[in-house]
Amino acid sequence: MLLEVRDLHVEFRTREGVVNAVNGVSYEVDAGETLAVLGESGSGKSVTAQAIVGILDVPPGRIGGGEVLFKGQDLLKLKEDERRKVRGAGMAMIFQDALSSLNPVLSVGQQLGEMFVVHRGMSHKDAKARAVELMDRVRIPAARERVGQYPHQFSGGMRQRIMIAMALALEPSLIIADEPTTALDVTVQAQVMDLLAELRRELHMGLILITHDLGVVADVADRIAVMYAGKIVETAPVHDIYKAPAHPYTRGLLDSIPRLDQKGSELYAIKGLPPNLLNIPPGCSFHPRCPRARDVCTTDEPPLYEVSGTRHSACHFWRETLHDVDN
Ligand code: SF4
Ligand code: MG
Repeated sequence: MLLEVRDLHVEFRTREGVVNAVNGVSYEVDAGETLAVLGESGSGKSVTAQAIVGILDVPPGRIGGGEVLFKGQDLLKLKEDERRKVRGAGMAMIFQDALSSLNPVLSVGQQLGEMFVVHRGMSHKDAKARAVELMDRVRIPAARERVGQYPHQFSGGMRQRIMIAMALALEPSLIIADEPTTALDVTVQAQVMDLLAELRRELHMGLILITHDLGVVADVADRIAVMYAGKIVETAPVHDIYKAPAHPYTRGLLDSIPRLDQKGSELYAIKGLPPNLLNIPPGCSFHPRCPRARDVCTTDEPPLYEVSGTRHSACHFWRETLHDVDN
């Protein structure tokens, strides 16, 4: 297994108290596989990723427990410099906002080339050649002519491709993409998503795709983990989820995707807001918003029930949800 996250806990110390952002998350990704991690903002999906790549190592964020096994080695048990080495060589992250992640006063060729100069000890001339190769690889047209241009001279979609190129530079075995297409319009979104999926296949990398939009992952993900209030509430192969969710929250997310065949009908939205993480509701944390909630849901926290060998749901009533004829 490429990456195994086991019972991860992350908390933030704030003036108002301890925010439990991640409360016992476990998931895994193998080489050549895409896991989509889905949830509204504040569900803990980005924080989990930040803990994996190590950008949480600074306060106020604190890892409260768990394991992050990368190729079998627990990163959380390594000394800081060791950890940085393992991560630097093996994983890369792509963020939503390419414009603020790229340096505006350096050409894209300089920024891409820099990776090879610093980490591979290449000459500037060789590094530039590699930069052009990378731009080709992420299908930026006329790479050789554009390598000297600055980030603002590229469209949003092209800039996101440059971010992907930067992530690929050191040939990581795992890429974590946090809302990589959210800032782009729909057709460009699909192109960037397709590119990521294709590169993942070609290079046999693991890919974790973090998104709030169930609509963008259908064609690219192998499995989905749905997060709510810092926990995984459902995990399943992507097709199972689309066929019939086993958790009412997943059902709600699915019903909020705009569908071409239902033009004009009103779009469903899950009522209410995600909970304040300083004060997570008792029992099932989704109960204040759940159309299926019963008394037991307000007192008993559901464990992750095994729905099948490849599927889990943290709902006391997963059977009813799964077999709902309205599904
Ligand atoms: Fe809804 Fe209860 Fe299931 Fe939670 S356990 S998702 S409140 S039905
Ligand atoms: Mg986020």
